[in-house]
Amino acid sequence: MPVIHQLSDDLADQIAAGEVVERPASVVKELLENALDAGAKHISVRVKGAGVDEISISDDGCGIEASQLPLALTRHATSKIATVEDLFAIRSFGFRGEALPAIASVSRFTFTSRTETAGHATCMQVEGGKIIGVPEPVSGQKGTRVEVKDLFFNTPARRKFLKSSRTEAEAVEDVVVRLALAHPEVHIELQMDGGKSQTFAPTTGDMWENEGFLSRIAGVMGRDFAQSSVKVAAEHTDFRLHGFVGLPTLHAATPRRQFLYVNNRPVRDKLLVGALRGAYHDLMASNRHALAVLFIDLPPEAVDVNVHPAKTEVRFREGRDVFGLIRAGIRQVLLAHGDQVATTPAEEMLARFSPENSFVNQINESHFYQSTLRENSAPNTLHMPFTPGGRVVQEMEDFAQDYAQNYENKEENEVEQYPLGAALAQLHETYIVAQTGEGLVVVDQHAAHERIVYEKFKGQILNRNVERQMLLMPEIIELAKRDVELILARSEELETFGLDLEAFGPAAIAVRATPALLGAVNVKALVEDIVEDLHQLKPTTRLSDRLEETLSRMACHGSIRAGRRLSAAEMNALLRDMERTPNTAQCNHGRPTYVSLKKSDLEKLFGRIK
Ligand code: ADP
Ligand code: MG
Repeated sequence: MPVIHQLSDDLADQIAAGEVVERPASVVKELLENALDAGAKHISVRVKGAGVDEISISDDGCGIEASQLPLALTRHATSKIATVEDLFAIRSFGFRGEALPAIASVSRFTFTSRTETAGHATCMQVEGGKIIGVPEPVSGQKGTRVEVKDLFFNTPARRKFLKSSRTEAEAVEDVVVRLALAHPEVHIELQMDGGKSQTFAPTTGDMWENEGFLSRIAGVMGRDFAQSSVKVAAEHTDFRLHGFVGLPTLHAATPRRQFLYVNNRPVRDKLLVGALRGAYHDLMASNRHALAVLFIDLPPEAVDVNVHPAKTEVRFREGRDVFGLIRAGIRQVLLAHGDQVATTPAEEMLARFSPENSFVNQINESHFYQSTLRENSAPNTLHMPFTPGGRVVQEMEDFAQDYAQNYENKEENEVEQYPLGAALAQLHETYIVAQTGEGLVVVDQHAAHERIVYEKFKGQILNRNVERQMLLMPEIIELAKRDVELILARSEELETFGLDLEAFGPAAIAVRATPALLGAVNVKALVEDIVEDLHQLKPTTRLSDRLEETLSRMACHGSIRAGRRLSAAEMNALLRDMERTPNTAQCNHGRPTYVSLKKSDLEKLFGRIK
């Protein structure tokens, strides 16, 4: 018969530690939060051996009374809440009273603290949960210092779960950075092994107008973010959303640069991440991640932070409203800046033009040039490589001719008049070059047109007036039997998208009409793509629920392909269409549709200005 017995306090602490102290970064998080809760204005974090060898954190906060030190190290001992009501109005990071005992149970732990009024500091030592000796008076300033050595020394199994030192060290850094971003008024220093250190200098005043804070963000998020982000500010009853989000053309492979806060507490909450994703839904490929620093403020009683021992998840009382506010708040800003592209492409473009990357250098290095040199033995004529085949020369002549034709016909100021300027030429049957009031833009004709078709298409569908184009002869498309069944089951829904089809025997369908917006489309390719999509879809999911995905698939088919020569009128029509269409700065996959170079960029290129 199994015998039931009470676990020892040590063992209970170690079990609790499993939830709170998963890795060195969790220790840093708990201690840093305690320091912030204590009202510290200056916090220094020192980490050795990725936090396994040592973590020490000193703060200048309120400190702890000598007589209370042992109590702080027992389970469920906290100064932050007292009643059940408090639990639903939490303003501090901590409240569970379990971090210190948990950390002390799996390390060699030294705790030193002094309050404003105490004559000296008091120090206490704990090893693997056992108090060593008695609290002793020591010298020390007001505030608290916690040293955690040999983490998991007595729980080797936990140690085995740790990742590489680099990964653990990165996690430590991430925790500090996340908290530092939300506390601009606190001086925070992080010193890692090998002399690597970061300092977050304190700033005060309105966060969002504050240079210091903005540079804190830029330091963490990168320069590209500083230049290619937009400010978000939205309010709804008691909820407030503020922060910065990246333009859709700025995206990353991981969500590492998404910093989300609820009442200043860093969280990784599914609802918030979902709302952020929702705001970008058709502006970015689904496997990419937006960049964001977002603060959600709401009354403490409207959010439950006691969902997860590490408190990184929260539960909202009005989840739907929060979701809506975030999604709509961000979306609105993105739409307002829908014609703006991240500066990154232009910068990359400039970098390509830089001397070490210059065309001449590349040609010099190219195999082609070397062989041309040998054949022609004319080493000083750099333009030699252009001549063989005459292709480049021809393009340059075309360019000049187009330029002359287009430019001469321009009325005064017409260039200035339109944001995307006047088309001057088409390069490689793929890119449109246009002169704007500010400089020049280069447009990817396929990406831009895809966006336009998509937006128009979406408008027609939402207004239920999709124009169809009847085919002169129905097009018969052969498919696998199950694909036929699959697409026929959706024929009514597809009809609302402007695609009319019906059965044609067991292994084919007949398509009678296609959406007019797509123009003369390759019907077979379109249908095959849709079938592919339908395979991914649960039978219960309606196509209209995945409107964006379906539309962008279809829009891609109707777009001007790269490699089609456009007349000047067509190019200008495309530019004007772009200006009229929302979100034209990126295609449906978040790639930019155009890059722009300002006059000043050109001047830099040619060394006219530095
Ligand atoms: P919690 O933060 O959930 O209250 P902890 O175990 O982290 O639980 O801390 C227990 C108590 O110890 C806190 O409630 C607080 O009163 C005190 N304490 C911990 N760290 C500090 C600190 N750096 N400065 C002042 N008091 C602290
Ligand atoms: Mg705590």
